[in-house]
Formats: sequence, C-alpha cells, structure tokens
Amino acid sequence: MRANPRIRFGRHRGFVEATKDILKRYFGYDSFRPGQERMVDAILAGRDALGVMPTGAGKSICYQVPALMMQGLTLVVSPLVSLMGDQVRALKEVGARPSYLNSSLTPAQQNTVLKRASEGWYQIMYVAPERLADERFLAFAQAAAAPGGIGLPLVAVDEAHCVSQWGQDFRPSYLQIAEFIAALPARPVVAAFTATATERVRDDIVQMLGLRSPQTVVTGFDRANLSFNVQEMGDKAKAAWIRDYAASHADESGIVYCATRKAVDELAFDLGRTLAPQGIRVARYHAGMSTDERTAEQAAFIADAAPLMVATNAFGMGIDKPNVRYVIHHNVPESIEAYYQEAGRAGRDGDPAACYLLWNGHDFGLRRYFIERDVPEDALSAEERAFTRQNRYRLLAQMEGYCQTTGCLREYILRYFGDEGALGVKGVATGSADPIGAGAAAGSPVPVSATLAIGGAASSETGCGNCSNCLTRYEVEDVTDIALAAMRLVSATGGRFGKALIAEVLHGANTEKIRQFHLDDAPGYGVVAEVSIKRIKDVLDQLVGRGYLAQSQGRFPVVGLGSHAGEALDPQRVSGFSFTVKKRASQSVSASRARRAVDLVREEAALDARPRVGDDAELFDELRSLRRKLADEHNVPAYIICSDATLRGLCRKRPATREDLLEVTGIGEKKADAYGEAFLAAIAEYEASVR
Ligand code: ADP
Ligand code: ZN
Repeated sequence: MRANPRIRFGRHRGFVEATKDILKRYFGYDSFRPGQERMVDAILAGRDALGVMPTGAGKSICYQVPALMMQGLTLVVSPLVSLMGDQVRALKEVGARPSYLNSSLTPAQQNTVLKRASEGWYQIMYVAPERLADERFLAFAQAAAAPGGIGLPLVAVDEAHCVSQWGQDFRPSYLQIAEFIAALPARPVVAAFTATATERVRDDIVQMLGLRSPQTVVTGFDRANLSFNVQEMGDKAKAAWIRDYAASHADESGIVYCATRKAVDELAFDLGRTLAPQGIRVARYHAGMSTDERTAEQAAFIADAAPLMVATNAFGMGIDKPNVRYVIHHNVPESIEAYYQEAGRAGRDGDPAACYLLWNGHDFGLRRYFIERDVPEDALSAEERAFTRQNRYRLLAQMEGYCQTTGCLREYILRYFGDEGALGVKGVATGSADPIGAGAAAGSPVPVSATLAIGGAASSETGCGNCSNCLTRYEVEDVTDIALAAMRLVSATGGRFGKALIAEVLHGANTEKIRQFHLDDAPGYGVVAEVSIKRIKDVLDQLVGRGYLAQSQGRFPVVGLGSHAGEALDPQRVSGFSFTVKKRASQSVSASRARRAVDLVREEAALDARPRVGDDAELFDELRSLRRKLADEHNVPAYIICSDATLRGLCRKRPATREDLLEVTGIGEKKADAYGEAFLAAIAEYEASVR
C-alpha cells in the first residue's frame, strides 16, 4: 500500500496502529466496525472509495478518521444542511476542529469561516453541493489545493445516490461535484457514501462523480439489533395499540410514521392527551406546518424534550438521533426501501430497538390512490408517466408481500436489497430487477400436512429469531376447498371482479351488486358460507401471493387466474391439489419487544458474576440523571454527552481513575476531560451510599 505523503503520522507507525489510535483517542471506540477500516485504509492510501452502508452503520467515521489524520482540510458534501450543525457539534465535542458553510450562516459568519479555513484552522468542513458552484468558494478551494496551500486531501460525498437519476432523491446540484473536483489544481481523494444499494445507482455514482477505480465496500444491510414486526389491524385498533405502546414505553424515544398530515395531527393530539399525565410531550412534523414550527418540533425531539415524534415521511432525512428505541408505522409506506430507511432510524446506537408495521387493506387503497394522483402530468410524456406509475405499483406489490409473508421478515428485506449473505438466505432468484416479485411474496409453499408448525416458513434453517414471523406460532389450516372454489369462480366469471366481491360470492352474501351481476347463480356461490368474508379474503391473498391467482394493478384491482392455476384446476391432477395457510395462534412464542437500557444493564450484570457494590441498574439511573444535568448545563442533547451503551459501560467497569475511564467504550480523551470527573464522582458517591 502506498502511503499518502500528506498523512501527519510517521509512516513507520503503520496505518493500522495510527487509525486505531485516532478512533480510540477521539471517539473512544476500541475497534472499527465491518467495512470502516477498509474505507479508511483506502482513503489514506490515496485511493478513491465508495461505501454502501445502511443507515447507522457508521459512515461518518470512514471520512472523519482520515480527516483527522491528513494534512489540510477535508470537504464533506452533504445535502442535509439541517444536520451540519449537529455533526460539527459532535466533532467539537470529541476535540476535533470542524466547521460548516451553508446558508444558515450570515454573510459575516461565512466570511469568518472562510478566513479561518484559509488559515488552516479546520480539519473538516461540511458544505452543501450548491456551494461548490460559488465562485468565491471555488477560489478558496483552488488556493487550498494549490502547491503551498493548506491542502485539500479529501472530498467526501455523503448521500451520494443523490447524483443518480435512478434514485428517489436525485439532486441536480450533485452533478456539479465532478466539475468542482476537475477544477482543482490537484485532485483530492474522492470518497462517496450512500445507504442505497441498487446496482444501477452504484454504477451511476462511480460514473457521475468520476471515481477512479474506487475501493468499494458494501456492508451488510442487516441491522441485527432491530426487531421487525408486522401486524394487521383495523384503523381504530391501530390508534389504541399505539397509545398503549407509547404509554408503556414512556421513558423511551420513538417515532410514529403516518401516511397523511391529517393522520399525524389526529394521532399526535390523541397521544399528547394520553401521555400528558406522565409528563411526556409529543412532537409533530409534516409539510403542512410552518418552517419555524417544524424546526422547533424537530429540535424538541432531538433534545428528548419531546421524546415521541408523530410525523409523515417528510420527517427524518438527516436525523441521526441515536437513541430512538422504536419506530411504528401507522400506515404502509410506498416501498420496502422507504420502509427500511424510516424503520432504520431506530437503534442507531446499536442497542435493541423495535420496528412495527401496522397495516390493513385501506393502506393499500390509499397508496394506490396516491400513485394515481401523484404523477406530475406536465413534466412527463405519456409513456414516461405510465412507466413511473407501473414502477410504483411494482414497489407497492413488494411492500404488500412484506405484510403478508409468513416467512422471516428480515430475510424478506435482505433479499430485497440483494444482501443474500447476511443470514445465509437461500433460494429465490436474485440478480433480476425484481428479486421478490409478488409471486414469491408469500414465502415458500407451506408443507401440505395439517399439523402444527412453529416459526416462519423456514425458521429452523434461516429464520432470524427476532421478527414477529419467527416468533409467532402458526397452526396450519387446510383451505383447499376455498382455494378451488375461488379459482373456479374466477375462471367462470372471466376475472372481472375484485377480491372483496369474490369473497362475498363464495360466502354467499346477498347484496345489490351480487344480484346485479347475477353472481348468485355463479358456480361456487355460498359454498363456504361458514367461513367469514375476511378469512376468505386472506385465502385469496395467499392464492395471489403464491401465483394461483393474479391481481391486476391500478386503483380498483381485479383478480384473474395466476400462472399456477392450471396445476390446480387440471382435472387430471385436481385430486392431488391441496392448499394450506398458516393460522396465527393467539400466543406468540415470546414477546419480541425492545428491551430498555435498564433491562440490558440487568442482563449484562447477570452475565458476569463479578463482585460489585450496589446494583448496576440503580447506578445506571443515577448516571442517566447526571447525563441529563450535564446536557442541560451544556445545552446539548443528552446523547451528545454520551450514549446509553457508554453509561452501561460505566456501570460495569466502575472506573475509579481517568485511565479506567478511557477503557469505557465511547469515552475518548476530550470526553474524559469534560465529563470524566463528574462521572467518577457520581460512581464513587453511589458506591459510598450503598456500602
Ligand atoms: P451512518 O452515517 O452510517 O448512518 P453514523 O456515522 O451516524 O452512521 O454512526 C452511527 C452510530 O454508530 C453513531 O452513534 C456512531 O457514533 C456509532 N459508531 C460508528 N462507528 C463506531 C465504532 N467503530 N464503534 C462504536 N460505535 C460506532
Ligand atoms: Zn425472522
């Protein structure tokens, strides 16, 4: 590996030691996470790099560590202006010299920042992409990169997928990045980061940013600390469920996503009233609110003054609050990608966190309505419009598959992102543009036997053990009669009707519509009168999911025969056909919920039978109060002082000296200086009080 001559550390120390040293000294971490080290090494060796890592994987460390080691100023291009202040604050807190330059600063402030930057004061500077086209800024950067200048060793591009027109978040201003770099007298290392994984977008990033044979690191998309849960329930039940959940997790921070502004307003009001007696404030966020209002609500959430946020998907881009313990979706999002991004805002600190998706048929109706309504009519040709619409229906169908699968939810998501390796996920074609088409959505076919099956479709082999499907006990029910009747009816009536009407016919309902279409004479009318309409609809869903029926797209989908129908209806084989579905038993195998930090402290204490004074959980509470006090004094959110994991480390290690303190994960030199004494004193005091 060729050492970059601009690195401050002597070559003889070697990268490994030097980078680890920085990681420990500044950030207080003992080791790099998967992928981080390779990115850091590549950058320090002068090679371009592309990091595809899911949210929370720790992308910032990949450029922050090099920035602290290289001579000169590292530029970080990020569209998330609202986040820059936070990042700079966090970096200052660990003893680095960061800055940002964006439109939230007054012209005078901008002058000061640029002046100090030219004097070589900063190690890292965050800028919005638009800034790169600014003449004055370009002149500054050219001088910095010129021989004798302060040095511009690295340009890090965050949210790099914004450069691709195939992505959801295309920003034309990202196209200026390559021009900017080309205009510099010496080419810096360019490192790009994104959480969006599709191959097409990845290729685009390399091309549009002009990366030169980049070291590409794709880390696993699995977020092992998140539990995934899907529950079908009616609209009223959803609100009640969320109320209960929030009330019983009142000491935790959470986000509830709703599909519409109206739902946000109603639910926030409802939750606010429920939680007020517990002293909990509920924040709210959607595009219908004024900018000031939104900023204030977001700030209250980040500072934990309002630990619960109810929001539309307008909320969250760039929010990296690490201690969000749960994300509940009150409605179905538009795609798995959107879902994983939003749900992924839980548990960024690596502690257990829970994701719940509550859904019912109305959600899909609403989504279809949005798809029909949203396409910008003027901007696109009719053909493009149709393409966009179809693409969105495809994404939605995959979301529907997620709601209905009885297999492992985590596997489903990982398969979607093409991250087969993560769980030893097997089977189901990949590499195609549509890794989980609706056809495979319901998971692998269920065994024909009518006995009790435990877990998801393949739990014994590949289930994650931490999702609602892996943790639910299913009973298998034979519904061959319903399945055959449904297919025969669809075949006889030519696939002209929707799911609800078909279910009503099979159930033998007596409605105006049924009489109007003479469906009371259709074959199969009332043959399964004893089965509820809802249950018949479930079976129809499963038939669609497994390819025996096919549902059309559009606002009012109709059901026709699927590609497998022939096998079932073939008179030669019909006696051999059997169709079973999983019946959800009332009891789950074990409740999958996010454990609280205090529970974790107890579990950890129970694991190692070391002698200790008093109770770790009690001490944890003391230290948590201290953290709050320090946060208030320094006017920063509590997590900027330290994470829950660090508090737990303090409880376990019970440091008595500064040296001990530096052993605790998350405590670097600067933090030891700033808060070390307060924590040491609190621990000593606690031990004295219980001795
Ligand atoms: P991303 O930008 O990829 O979403 P961040 O850079 O915000 O993720 O990091 C997520 C969290 O992980 C932060 O709280 C960060 O401090 C923590 N983190 C990052 N790298 C490490 C590491 N090597 N060891 C421990 N914690 C880490
Ligand atoms: Zn699972």
